[in-house]
Amino acid sequence: MLLGALEAGGTKMVCAIGDENGNVFERASFPTRMPEETMPDIIGYFKDKKIEALGISSFGPLNLDETSPDFGNITTTPKPGWANYPLRRTLLEALKVPVGIDTDVNGAALAEARIGAGKGLDSLVYYTIGTGIGGGAVVGGKLLHGLVHPEMGHMLLRPVKDDPTPKGFCPYHDGCLEGMANGPAIEKRWGVSAKELPPEHIAWDVETEYLAQMCVNTIVVLSPKKIVLGGGVMHQLHLFPKIRKRTLELLNGYVAHSAILEDIDNYIVPPALGDNAGAAGSLLLALEALKSA
Ligand code: ADP
Ligand code: ZN
Repeated sequence: MLLGALEAGGTKMVCAIGDENGNVFERASFPTRMPEETMPDIIGYFKDKKIEALGISSFGPLNLDETSPDFGNITTTPKPGWANYPLRRTLLEALKVPVGIDTDVNGAALAEARIGAGKGLDSLVYYTIGTGIGGGAVVGGKLLHGLVHPEMGHMLLRPVKDDPTPKGFCPYHDGCLEGMANGPAIEKRWGVSAKELPPEHIAWDVETEYLAQMCVNTIVVLSPKKIVLGGGVMHQLHLFPKIRKRTLELLNGYVAHSAILEDIDNYIVPPALGDNAGAAGSLLLALEALKSA
């Protein structure tokens, strides 16, 4: 079965052809310009590929209310030309196949749960710690939606005393996860690019504290069976043991499950799919759209 995948990002649009198991056969990338310029590139790519359905994982926020006439629209982005853009509808009308859409992190969460680090689990939370911070949750085998979609990157944290910039840098919130712990926040706080900070720098202790608070909040709210941490900042693999240790300290034995108390090394883990999570997730969203068509 041939399925189409679109990873819609703020800088590039990655289009791919693959199958229902998340295998990618070919891909192409187009710069994200204005919709009038970018959409013909995308439509042109998929037009003659004989796909049975298309899945989109997109930057957001998105309207994911299937009963809304604006389902599948990008909503409030500052990206010129894309606010209120009907991304799903435009592709549905052009390609005339079922089109599924979700946020980029939800796509990655679905892929990690079905075929990645959480293969076989019906419950998992995936975070990307990169230019932004976003999280997606699989609950009961399905992606979690609600009024809109979760915005886990904006959960509020408590500052640590060693943090010289305890309010962080989110333009909307003092002390939210993204503003405290994304790549750009590390850079602004310490005046050095995150890539260049040595593992023993205090920056990583501060980062560990915030990401451990994130894990604790996630555990107590959603009780996932696994937490997957991806994104550029998590290329610093020394963070994993630090975050696991601090998460256990902060939980203080309260959530008494062996998966956490005895097996935390397999509970807070890196992604298994790496750079393929976006494409694989989009293919799985295409499959979901086909099933419910
Ligand atoms: P994006 O979030 O833009 O899709 P990434 O997940 O690669 O892309 O995140 C980019 C951010 O991650 C940058 O802010 C950068 O500071 C940070 N980053 C990238 N690579 C590393 C690294 N090896 N170590 C620490 N931080 C990194
Ligand atoms: Zn915020």
